[in-house]
Amino acid sequence: MGMVMVRCPQTGHAISTGIKTDRESFRRSTVFFARTPCPFCRADHAWFARDAWVDEPSIRVRRRRGGGSPA
Ligand SMILES: [Zn+2]
Repeated sequence: MGMVMVRCPQTGHAISTGIKTDRESFRRSTVFFARTPCPFCRADHAWFARDAWVDEPSIRVRRRRGGGSPA
C-alpha cells in the first residue's frame, strides 16, 4: 500500500492526496479522477490517475524521466 501523490502544477511540489492504494489496483483505475486541496498554493487541484503516482516506500520504483513516447 502507498499514498497516491500528484504534482502541484503551480509549484511543482508533490502533494499527498490522502488516498491510499496499491500500485496494481491504482493502475487498473484508469478513469480515476479527484480533487485534492493543495497546501502549497491553497487551491484545489483536479487530477486524473495518469497524472498521479503511488508512493510506496517499500518498493523502489525507477521512474523514467523526460517522457516522450506515448504508450
Ligand atoms: Zn498547488
